[in-house]
Amino acid sequence: MDKKKILVIGSLNMDWVLKVEDIPVIGETVLGGDIQESPGGKGANQAFAAGRLNGDVTMLGAVGCDENGRTLLENLKLAGVHTEFIKKSRKKTGLAIITVNADGDNCITVSPGANLSCDVSYIKENLQVIEECSILLVQMEIPHDAVYYAMEQAHRMGKTVIFNPAPAPVQIREEAYAWIDYITPNETELQKLTKIRDTEQEEIERGCAILLEKGIKNVVVTLGSKGALLMNKTVRRNFAAKKVQVVDTTAAGDTFNAAMAVFLADGKNISQAVEFANAAAALTVQKKGAQNAVPHWKDLEENHK
Ligand code: ATP
Repeated sequence: MDKKKILVIGSLNMDWVLKVEDIPVIGETVLGGDIQESPGGKGANQAFAAGRLNGDVTMLGAVGCDENGRTLLENLKLAGVHTEFIKKSRKKTGLAIITVNADGDNCITVSPGANLSCDVSYIKENLQVIEECSILLVQMEIPHDAVYYAMEQAHRMGKTVIFNPAPAPVQIREEAYAWIDYITPNETELQKLTKIRDTEQEEIERGCAILLEKGIKNVVVTLGSKGALLMNKTVRRNFAAKKVQVVDTTAAGDTFNAAMAVFLADGKNISQAVEFANAAAALTVQKKGAQNAVPHWKDLEENHK
């Protein structure tokens, strides 16, 4: 049987990680180490991860006509992602400058650049790409009008819509709740979206109930070291995280979303997909870095028996 096609619409950034002793305060200049460059952006991370996990993945997004843009596209191709519809914008490729101090705390400045060209008119030009997919996976690092437009069109065409609300907007547009089959916030994103008091289990469940009441069909909350919670009208199930030696949690959420999409595309049910996503993300946290920490399908098969 042919695998169902996954379409990721989202951001592509080059990440520059700069290590410093102390993060500078206003007016201060500090010297740091060498810049470590690595491909990032939530959209690209999720497309890359879904590709590595053997999904049939296409990405829509935008890069600049520059070296960073070329590197990001080449990198996605290495994971088997179809990149031919990605726009080459006149703006520069998105850049995230991540300054990390000696304690490992960071501050991040993002120049979205070309990601801003992933707008409604670009999505309109590529409606056939949505038509050809079965599952749409979107996040919030591109213009929000484009995210909503893509979800609306995908829903209208009968596609499965997975919405990873990251970074969380203050509120989801009222009409959009009905377009979302799966929403995948982490705890703080759920808190922002539903105004729950805290992130204790009871409040998390209340937050899920609020989203279900609004018309979203399934809520999957990622709970970091506590795993994940799935709630829909008939199911409420906690999935404990795998007990592993954590090295770096970067891209855990992106791996989780990608793996869930891959398993749903394989025709599995949502409980099986969340279980698989938990296992995939647990492999990511055991390695340093973002995309290079994402497991290959065979690593997961060995671990998830
Ligand atoms: P990030 O922004 O770091 O990518 P996130 O905040 O979007 O992550 P989390 O809820 O922190 O998402 O983690 C996503 C998933 O990763 C969890 O649901 C779980 O499956 C896995 N995970 C995260 N932390 C751990 C951990 N300490 N041990 C095992 N699995 C973990």
